[in-house]
Amino acid sequence: MRGKVEHYDRVTGQLLHRYSTIREPDGVLRVACKTRRASRCPACAEVYRADTYQLVRAGLVGGKGVPETVSAHPCLFVTLTAPSFGAVHVRREKNGKVLPCHARRDAQTCPHGQVMSCTERHSADDPRLGEPLCPDCYDYDGSVLFNAISPELWRRFTLALRRRFAKLNGLTVKALREHVSIAFAKVAEYQRRGVVHFHAVIRLDGPDGPESPPPAWATADALAQAVQHATAAVTAEIKPLSRTFRWGTQLDVRRITLDGELTEQAVAAYIAKYATKAAECVGTLDRRIQPLDDLNRLPVREHARRLIAACMRLGSQPGLADLRLIHWAHMLGFRGHFSTKSRRYSTTLGALRAAREEHMRAEEITTGRLPLFEEDTVLVIAHWQYAGQGLSPGEQLLAAAITGVPFSNVGGDSR
Ligand SMILES: [Zn+2]
Ligand SMILES: [Zn+2]
Ligand SMILES: [Zn+2]
Repeated sequence: MRGKVEHYDRVTGQLLHRYSTIREPDGVLRVACKTRRASRCPACAEVYRADTYQLVRAGLVGGKGVPETVSAHPCLFVTLTAPSFGAVHVRREKNGKVLPCHARRDAQTCPHGQVMSCTERHSADDPRLGEPLCPDCYDYDGSVLFNAISPELWRRFTLALRRRFAKLNGLTVKALREHVSIAFAKVAEYQRRGVVHFHAVIRLDGPDGPESPPPAWATADALAQAVQHATAAVTAEIKPLSRTFRWGTQLDVRRITLDGELTEQAVAAYIAKYATKAAECVGTLDRRIQPLDDLNRLPVREHARRLIAACMRLGSQPGLADLRLIHWAHMLGFRGHFSTKSRRYSTTLGALRAAREEHMRAEEITTGRLPLFEEDTVLVIAHWQYAGQGLSPGEQLLAAAITGVPFSNVGGDSR
C-alpha cells in the first residue's frame, strides 16, 4: 500500500501525528495477504502454520487459556482415509528397502489391455506416484465425489462416535453429555492420488470442556473402540447417482501421551504442516478453473486433468449442483475447510490473531508509525492506494530459502 494517515485534534483541528509510506523501503508499506497457502505466500503461510500449531498444542498440553490439566485427558490421533478408486503406483518401504509397486504373479489384464502389475521400485520423486495403473479403469468420478462428500462423512462420523461412546458406557447421547464431551481438531491432507484424508486429534473432556476432567470410566480404550466402530459404520449417499461413500479400510488410531511414542509436539507439528498445503501438491492448479478454460491446455499432468474434467462434467448435472464441483474443480472436488476444530477444543485462530495485532500495535507505537492516542479523541484521515502484490527482492530470496523453490511474484508487481 502507498499512502498516509493523519491524526487531528477534533476540537482545534491541529495536526497531531502524520504517518506516510514515503519513509518506508521502496516507499510502500507491506501488508500481509494472510493466505494460509505456502504456494501463494510463504511468509503468511508460516504465520498460519505457527498459529495452527499453537492452537492444536494448547488442546494437548494447555496454554492460551486452556488449563494444563487437559494433558491428563484421554486423547487419540486418528487418520481416516479414503477408499480405493483403482490401483495406483505406490512407493512402499520395509526395513529401509523400497518394495516393488504392485508385484502380482497372476496379474489380470484389464479390458484396455493393461496388465495390472508394476514391479518398479519407485523413487520418492517419481511423478507417476499416485497415478493409476490404468487411467481408463480408474474411478475418477468416485474420487471427486468422495472429496465432495467427505465433509458430510466427517460430520456423520463425529455423531456416530458420540452415539457409540455413549452406548459402550450404557448411556444415551443426552445422558453422556452430562458427564463427557468429545473435542476434535482436524486437518485434511491430499494424498498423491488426489483424494483427501483426515488427521484428527480426538479428546475426552468432562461436561464443561477442557476445564473439567472426564470421569474415570471414560477411557482412551473405549474411545478407540468407538472410533473403530463409527469409522466402519457411517456412510453418505449421493442420491441422484445412487452412490454411497464410506471411509477406506485403512484406519490409524494412536494414543497421544506426553512421554510415549507419539508426543504432543509431534502431533501438533504434523497437523500444522498440512494446514498450509492444498491440492497443488497433487499437481493440480493453484487457482479456480473457469468454465471457458480449455482443459487440454492446463499445465497439469493427465491424472489431475482427468480429475478436473470429472468435476466439470459431474458439476454440470442438475441434481449435483449442491456439490459445487465446477467451483471446486481445482481442489478436485473438495470444498471443505482444511483445518477445523470443535468449539471447545482450545483457543481460536481469531484470539491468537487479536493477541498478535495488539502486540504489533504496541510495537508500531514505539517506532512512531502509530501515535499513542485513544482513537475516539482524534480525527483520523487516511489516504491509501493499492501499490501492488508480491514480495520485495529480499523477501523473495527468503521465500525461496524456506520453500526450496524459486519464488516469483504472482498477480502483480512488487512496487
Ligand atoms: Zn502474504
Ligand atoms: Zn508402479
Ligand atoms: Zn483398464
